[in-house]
Amino acid sequence: MSKRHSLSYRFWAALAVILGCSVVLGAILITTYYRELRATRLSETRLAHFQLVMRAVNHLSAERGPLNSVLGEEPGSDSPSRKRLVSFRANTDAALDRLSPIPGFSQQLAETRRSLAHARQLADILDRQPLHARMPQDFREVVQAMFAVVDTAQALVDAAIGGFNTAASDHLVGTALIARMLSDIREQVGRMGSNIVPSIAARLPITPEQRTAHDIAYGRVLGFWQLVEQQSGENSDRQIAAMRRAVNEDFFGRGMAIYRDVLATGRDGNYAFDTISFTNQIVPTFASLERLRDMHLDSAMARTKADGENARQLLVVISAVTLIALLLELVLVAASQTLLFAPLLSARDAVMALAAGRTGQPYVVPRVRGEVRSLFKALDTLRSKLIERDALDQEKLKLTAQLRQLAETDGLTGILNRGALDQRAASLLATRPALQPLPLILLDIDHFKGINDRYGHVAGDEVLKETARRLQAALRPTDIIARFGGEEFAVILPDPTAKPDQIAERLRSALLARPFTLDNGAPLDVTASFGVALMAPAAGSWLDLVEAADRALYEAKAAGRNRVVARLAA
Ligand code: GH3
Ligand code: MG
Ligand code: MG
Repeated sequence: MSKRHSLSYRFWAALAVILGCSVVLGAILITTYYRELRATRLSETRLAHFQLVMRAVNHLSAERGPLNSVLGEEPGSDSPSRKRLVSFRANTDAALDRLSPIPGFSQQLAETRRSLAHARQLADILDRQPLHARMPQDFREVVQAMFAVVDTAQALVDAAIGGFNTAASDHLVGTALIARMLSDIREQVGRMGSNIVPSIAARLPITPEQRTAHDIAYGRVLGFWQLVEQQSGENSDRQIAAMRRAVNEDFFGRGMAIYRDVLATGRDGNYAFDTISFTNQIVPTFASLERLRDMHLDSAMARTKADGENARQLLVVISAVTLIALLLELVLVAASQTLLFAPLLSARDAVMALAAGRTGQPYVVPRVRGEVRSLFKALDTLRSKLIERDALDQEKLKLTAQLRQLAETDGLTGILNRGALDQRAASLLATRPALQPLPLILLDIDHFKGINDRYGHVAGDEVLKETARRLQAALRPTDIIARFGGEEFAVILPDPTAKPDQIAERLRSALLARPFTLDNGAPLDVTASFGVALMAPAAGSWLDLVEAADRALYEAKAAGRNRVVARLAA
């Protein structure tokens, strides 16, 4: 069986494929959700940065409110406006400080701070002058410098939005744009106020240029707001919708009415407000706009956080499922190996050993339960049955051999009987080269009847036994000796080099060597006559050979007994 076709090879190959697929699948899913998680985390960070920038820019805009009020007052007075300015400036500085650790913002931040420091310096110089000495153009210069700060800070906004392009999802970019537009609206409307404030402070009439600038700015604001309403309308948050309505009421309703009022009363320089009351009335109308912007950003942050949490949970679940699947597969591998394959292979070896007849070879019975265990029980049974059968076979063989021996042996002398001799002789002749003669010696004890008569039948039997012993002792193990019948014996000499006449003489001498001893201790001389003949398979049958040897024996008897007559010419 080739290795490729073996069961275990296929099993391991399939397992390798399954394990490989699981690992690849798991890895793809895990990396996908890990990337998703990383992306949402990055979006979260970028959104947080954007929020910080938006707040900082808002503080930069908001700082103009109390500044406008302060510049409408005498210097050095410890007024509520001045206190507000100090606290607003502190808030702005804190908001800018929060941007310091963010990488990528440092240059824009430094420029914004520089611009802010310059604007504040101009404001402080103007603030130190008495109210009547403050020129409207100086006032405007300060206002322009404060506008420039916000313009400079737009680079920070750009940098923060630029961060989204690489990592954020669409909704973040959309939200960032809405937030930016809301911030722009607030800035524009704030600037509309700041443009008027110097005129209020100096009690100068509103110029036609100021009116036109106001109308243009208002038109832009409305355009932005339409865009925001479209974009923001996609957000189904009910609180955001409520805040949009609040913007329409507070900001565009009350706030713009104040502007219209100021512009109307300021046509002849006869203002219904001073800078402080104007600022105090207009600034609160911006709050809803700021709130709306924050709500959009907060909602986007909540969504990003939810996305991140989703991705995190999915990552955990997928990682756990992948890990469990891999572990299960490994457990399955180990279990099938120890509980199934190893036992099956061991059972196969055991079956093969049994089939080859190696019943003694021990096999390891695995410590398993169920079908595999019953397989080994069956193997045990099979083995015991095989062992039993082998033992029976051995017994049968032994019996058969005993039976054959019994059938072939002469009961009295223990040498082969006539039937066995005939069989051996026939098979010897059948397998012998056709021209190779087979020698046969026939011998007959002389005057045996007389021995029987004189000493009894039992003594005759003893003489027959002793004769067989002496003949056998004088022969080689390969020679075949048999009792031919009565007191006649036959010797076949299969060895082609044997000299049958000489061997016959040797046998004769073996009987003569010393007298036989009877039971009563009396000595008895026993002799025999020998007839020797040869026959090649091509020349005749076994019976022909016997007949020839018998004739020679007859001649030996006739010639006076106790002699050998050999007929060696075939
Ligand atoms: P010869 O020299 O011519 O061969 O004379 P013989 O007496 O030996 O020959 P014969 O054929 O007359 O006698 C053979 C006797 O051998 C006859 C028979 O009773 C006896 N005999 C044959 N088988 C046995 C046997 O198993 N035991 C005994 N004790 N005698 C046997
Ligand atoms: Mg005889
Ligand atoms: Mg005889």
